[in-house]
Amino acid sequence: MVKKFGVVVNVNGYIKKGLSTKFSNYLNSTMTVIFHKILIFFLLLVLPQEILQHENSKLTSIGIDNCIKKNEAEFIREFQDLVKDTIYNDVFFTTKNFKKTTDKKQYDPMALAYIDISKSSSCEIFVNNEEKFSGYSYKSANQSLFDEYDYFLKATVFHEIMHYYFYQCILEMEKIRNIDVDDYYDGILTIPNPEQIYGAKFIEEGICEYFVQRIGESPILKNNYKPKFKSDFMLKTKTFEIQYAYSSIYLKDFLDASIENSGRLKYGIFILLRNPPPTYEEILNPDLYFNRLK
Ligand SMILES: [Zn+2]
Repeated sequence: MVKKFGVVVNVNGYIKKGLSTKFSNYLNSTMTVIFHKILIFFLLLVLPQEILQHENSKLTSIGIDNCIKKNEAEFIREFQDLVKDTIYNDVFFTTKNFKKTTDKKQYDPMALAYIDISKSSSCEIFVNNEEKFSGYSYKSANQSLFDEYDYFLKATVFHEIMHYYFYQCILEMEKIRNIDVDDYYDGILTIPNPEQIYGAKFIEEGICEYFVQRIGESPILKNNYKPKFKSDFMLKTKTFEIQYAYSSIYLKDFLDASIENSGRLKYGIFILLRNPPPTYEEILNPDLYFNRLK
């Protein structure tokens, strides 16, 4: 009995000792955690905060990185709502400094983003995190402060997603609906004609820019530049205004009507894709192009 009792006491004693050691360890570790939390809190107050946006609403590089990371799922959800359709493959977003990561000869100071579509039909959108964006969203900005030469991060992202959607429309026509896509849009060219290549790019960029303007993420174009002569298409200085500004105005009535009649942008895109792209003459005279569409 005594022995038994002794054992019990010993066991109890051991348990008690064990418990109290654990409790003091727990107390010590809790104190350490609290101490660390207080230290981090004071460090956060003392250390300089990372600036995400300048006072003039221009985004910093870190601000651009954060905006893209935070909103990547939201971009796709909102895009799908706007086009009333589904994006079927993965769209990944990456930010990088184009100046630091591009070969000097190939660096284009105007480039804000580009898209890379893989063989498996997923895509990666690369966004330039140099401080070139006037802000995050034009729609929610104080618009009186900006003009048509200001470009916003959200507009850039939606422009690039529209490039991907344009590609998805080509896939849908060819693989699902059995509608022939003109060779200049699906890239199957035997003897490429530079005029038709220009026309195809004019239409693709025009759709992307039309879209960001329609959803209010890009300032309304007031300059209204319009090419007058075929020689204008040869001038590098005019390329931006023709391919990115005039093109969206050129397509506006047609695409507005398509959305109004069918409720979706994609049926208008289908019509453009099954017809050969506009020639220089047809870009100068829109009626010549739109009257021949089938
Ligand atoms: Zn583009």
